[in-house]
Amino acid sequence: MGAVVLPMDPSAPFTLAPARGAPAAARDAVRRAVPHVPRWSPRRLGHLLRAVEGLRAEWRAAGSELFVLRGDPVECVASLAAELGACEVHTAPCPAFDELRENAGVAHALAGHGAKLHVHDETTMIAASDLPFGIAELPEVFSSFRRLVERGCRVRAPLPVPAIREASDATRALAAARSEATLAAPDLAEARAVAASHDPRSSFASDGARAAGLARIRQWFWHGDCVSRYKETRDGLLGADFSSRLSPWLALGTLSPREVAAEIRRYESERTANDSTYWLFFELLWRDYFHFWVRRWQGRAFKASGVLGRTPCGAQDHDAFIAWCQGTTGEPFVDASMRELRATGQLSNRARQNVASWLARTAGIDWRWGAAWFESQLIDFDVGPNWGNWQYVAGVGNDPRNRVFDVRGQAERYDRDGAYRARWAPA
Ligand SMILES: Cc1cc2nc3c(=O)[nH]c(=O)nc-3n(C[C@H](O)[C@H](O)[C@H](O)COP(=O)(O)OP(=O)(O)OC[C@H]3O[C@@H](n4cnc5c(N)ncnc54)[C@H](O)[C@@H]3O)c2cc1C
Repeated sequence: MGAVVLPMDPSAPFTLAPARGAPAAARDAVRRAVPHVPRWSPRRLGHLLRAVEGLRAEWRAAGSELFVLRGDPVECVASLAAELGACEVHTAPCPAFDELRENAGVAHALAGHGAKLHVHDETTMIAASDLPFGIAELPEVFSSFRRLVERGCRVRAPLPVPAIREASDATRALAAARSEATLAAPDLAEARAVAASHDPRSSFASDGARAAGLARIRQWFWHGDCVSRYKETRDGLLGADFSSRLSPWLALGTLSPREVAAEIRRYESERTANDSTYWLFFELLWRDYFHFWVRRWQGRAFKASGVLGRTPCGAQDHDAFIAWCQGTTGEPFVDASMRELRATGQLSNRARQNVASWLARTAGIDWRWGAAWFESQLIDFDVGPNWGNWQYVAGVGNDPRNRVFDVRGQAERYDRDGAYRARWAPA
């Protein structure tokens, strides 16, 4: 049997630990300000539901069922295992701070029922156990990581879909009743409706189900041959195909980076191998890097001073932050991007870099507030890539270039005709 535990209170305010040594007023400001950011936007939650419902359909088609539960994962998983008499529970690793604690809690609770938690290392393209260094020795900069990994590692073939054993009628009925009850909650119905709605200004409608991810691979790689032009198009802002758009499935694990790497290899052998096909692999290495980065740095990935221990610009100007979230800063390129994010849960990499740099470096606002907003809104939220990229852009991570983006210059370069700004933030 399979089980998924949905967040209990997705609209709970986002909270961050106050900076150590901060004066009491500043500590309160942090607690007051970020709570206006919900942990999960309805759109992000709805996207997760689509993925879960797709998974549930696959389990049912195989003669089994998926338990869709809601609550504290430690209690939910342990009590379900006890009820079903399960002696083994299998999960993928959660590399970040909170998730590791949660896994440890689940393992402990299961042990109390005589069951064991097995963690499978399947979320990165390169397996952690294949790295030529331990996680604690992860190179400080990406280019060193890439050199070592490209020299000494292979990408394992994706695992086949595991065989699902048929469940008894009684267990299937129990799972179906529990799942239906969970999925009928009014806030989940609202989230489902939001995720199904499509803003006509957006060129790409993402659907969390794995089947839609596989269809995207077929369309982008094979029908459109878009991967063969990726290096030239990847800084695009408008349109569906300038980049792969695979991140929402990769973030939830409904597609695996090893599947995408295998598709790149197949495309290279059957159609063409060029700088663009390599560049997609290169970007997947960035993803791996940030997955290992968050495992290495744990709590420091979320600290204002970052992994470098620098003092960031950390102003806590609530009104300026809200204006950034809503896309009403008065800076057209920033406003266009922030409105796109809010309306769709999606944003190109170029736009993410610009709005992050503007918040943290130009407006001088606590970068963690921005990371929290992205976490709440992005349908591809992934803990390492989000918090790692934010640290880079804010200048507290280990970006050797430590760049500040000139947002107006970037708009001139990447939105020369103003079409993107006109689409999302017309004057
Ligand atoms: C401030 C900021 C926050 C970000 N937050 C996230 C996040 O929460 N989740 C997320 O998946 N990506 C994040 N990114 C990275 C990147 O913007 C997205 O992965 C990319 O825009 C997704 O679109 P795509 O799938 O079309 O990417 P493509 O350009 O087609 O790239 C293919 C894949 O490579 C990976 N990738 C590409 N660029 C990066 C990168 N810079 N860092 C890590 N992985 C990368 C992604 O898995 C992506 O799906 C963030 C970047 C910035 C600057």
